[in-house]
Amino acid sequence: MVHNRLVSEVKGVGPALKEKFAELGIETVEDLMTTYPSRYENFEVLPITELVHEQKATIEGIVLSEPVVSFFGRKKSRLVVPIQVDQVVVKGVMFNRAFAKKQLAVGEKVTVTGKWDQHRQQITISHYKVGEKSTGEIEPVYLLRQIITPFQFKKIIKQAFDQFREQINEILPTRYLEGYQLINRGFAIEQMHFPHDVEHLKQARRRLIYDEFLIFQLKMQALRKFNRQRTSGNVKTYSEDQLTEFIAQLPFELTEAQKQANQEILTDIKSSYRMHRLLQGDVGSGKTIVAAIALYATILAGYQGAIMVPTEILAEQHYQSLTELFQDRLRIELLTGSVKGKERKQRLAAIQSGEVNLIVGTHALIQDDVYFSNLGLVIVDEQHRFGVNQRKVLREKGIDPDVLFMTATPIPRTLAITSFGDMDMSIINQMPVGRKEVETFWVKETLMPRIIKFIEKEIKNGGQAYVIAPLIEESDKIDIQNAVDLYHQLSSAFSIPVEIGLLHGRLTNAEKDKVMQDFATNKINLLVSTTVVEVGVNVPNATIMVIYDAERFGLSQLHQLRGRVGRGKKQSYCILIADPKGETGKERMQIMTETTNGFVLAEHDLKLRGPGEFFGKKQSGLPEFKIADPIHDYRTLETARKDAVEIIFNDLIEKNQEYRELKEYLNRILVEFNEGFD
Ligand code: ADP
Ligand code: MG
Repeated sequence: MVHNRLVSEVKGVGPALKEKFAELGIETVEDLMTTYPSRYENFEVLPITELVHEQKATIEGIVLSEPVVSFFGRKKSRLVVPIQVDQVVVKGVMFNRAFAKKQLAVGEKVTVTGKWDQHRQQITISHYKVGEKSTGEIEPVYLLRQIITPFQFKKIIKQAFDQFREQINEILPTRYLEGYQLINRGFAIEQMHFPHDVEHLKQARRRLIYDEFLIFQLKMQALRKFNRQRTSGNVKTYSEDQLTEFIAQLPFELTEAQKQANQEILTDIKSSYRMHRLLQGDVGSGKTIVAAIALYATILAGYQGAIMVPTEILAEQHYQSLTELFQDRLRIELLTGSVKGKERKQRLAAIQSGEVNLIVGTHALIQDDVYFSNLGLVIVDEQHRFGVNQRKVLREKGIDPDVLFMTATPIPRTLAITSFGDMDMSIINQMPVGRKEVETFWVKETLMPRIIKFIEKEIKNGGQAYVIAPLIEESDKIDIQNAVDLYHQLSSAFSIPVEIGLLHGRLTNAEKDKVMQDFATNKINLLVSTTVVEVGVNVPNATIMVIYDAERFGLSQLHQLRGRVGRGKKQSYCILIADPKGETGKERMQIMTETTNGFVLAEHDLKLRGPGEFFGKKQSGLPEFKIADPIHDYRTLETARKDAVEIIFNDLIEKNQEYRELKEYLNRILVEFNEGFD
């Protein structure tokens, strides 16, 4: 098996070379064979009619007459050679290689590669080969960081295939090979290094991309299955009547999508599975109430529930809205970094004793000194993941709760099934009835006087507005300064009395609270803020959202900001102030004005800015693949996921002999993958 053959077993690899390979992360023959070229130089011979102007091309022909060399400058030369290619004569030009004249004898067969000039029927030669044998080929280019020469590397790879070609196992059952018309695995891997031609290379890539996705999805699904398995019996039994009564007294009817999501979540809660589910829904689609119902069910079953959010402001807000929602049905406590001293001690004691049913907090919630009586459900309301480590922290405290994640913003499906592929998924893809779409405008800053008038009118009518300050760079300090400047600027901009508030990350929590409180009660009419209001903040009376330098934000982030308005009955407006220079920037602003569907925007965002940008600087967002690209090869990804779900959840891999190789391969990888798990 190539994975347990050491690279030193390849003939020609001595201790020194072994060291070098280790530096490249190559230990086994398999590592070596799957160190694929980063790109290829295409020396494939094409007919003249298929060449593209200004592109690199390779042609084959006969030297028609003796090359002419002219010298110019010091040591500079130009060689011109007429080459007959089929019925056409092409002019080959080569610089500073006068010595080639001797080799390019009249009547010789030559293969030349270089930049093609369509108009002059001329090729500027960078490589040439003389003689019959030259067929034209595709030259792999490896990223070797100058640790080893390409020549040496290729020689060793060739040798490795000669010795171990037979030991590359086919891992896919015939069913998939035939169904998708995939070429054999060993052949595909070898073709990556020594492609016969472009078509073979294409087939090799196609095969290996499927492999990569399938293996990745098998890992994800295995993990998902593992996560779903109960470790201890926490089947939660609650009174359906009490839950129904609670839902019935809500001031609104749940949307069908909310009901569906609820159903899925409650099924998990009742079952012996440990829930590991992602709840996605557009801004304003009503995720909070779905979360609240899940929490209530858990609490009715005799457990505690917790909701963890990224910021203190959000924690406060959730605390308030949940308190309002549950009234005296539950005892709810807030636990954030700013709850200190005696107050904190008291709350911790009440949490530990089980007097508290529902805990709302930031990450402070899973700190060392926090002990729960009987935590049954954690809801994580943030985009990033509640990592393996944090779950471990809880488990070490003897708690193995259900976990429900809520995303602040829709995630494109490509990312959802890769980055969150190990989770179950519920999606709320419908807005509550009667919700008015936020009208969005994209303007330049010169229109600010008109915007001021517009805000004035809205405030006169009792409305409120947000103004998001320019975001200059990844510097808190400057962003805050911008907010402060804008605050002063706006303070003298209105012709009617307008109460203006200022919110940014540098305020103390008490100060932030005060501002948010005053905004929520309309003591503040206009709130100037940095992006701290981005996530989740809920002030239904606010109807205008003005965003400076809108082109600097991702679409999903803009959408999230826009979601701060349009939360009440009144028509709301979002005004994007932007002057993007590039086409992409313009396109992005345009899309914002055209759709309010967060899922659509998320897909655009991903396409226009890539996965790294989508998830923000901190997270790369996508696992690394050797050759597959989840965005480009999206269809294959979907197929592989479907297959993986079937293989894992129908136990094909356990029961079916045909899957033995795949199972072994997967097991081997899962061992590496599970490092860090308990
Ligand atoms: P998000 O999904 O952005 O977290 P929220 O849960 O904050 O959305 O809900 C937004 C607003 O919509 C809240 O004021 C909430 O009370 C209200 N809401 C939620 N569900 C419904 C519904 N089915 N019908 C009417 N209003 C709803
Ligand atoms: Mg919310």
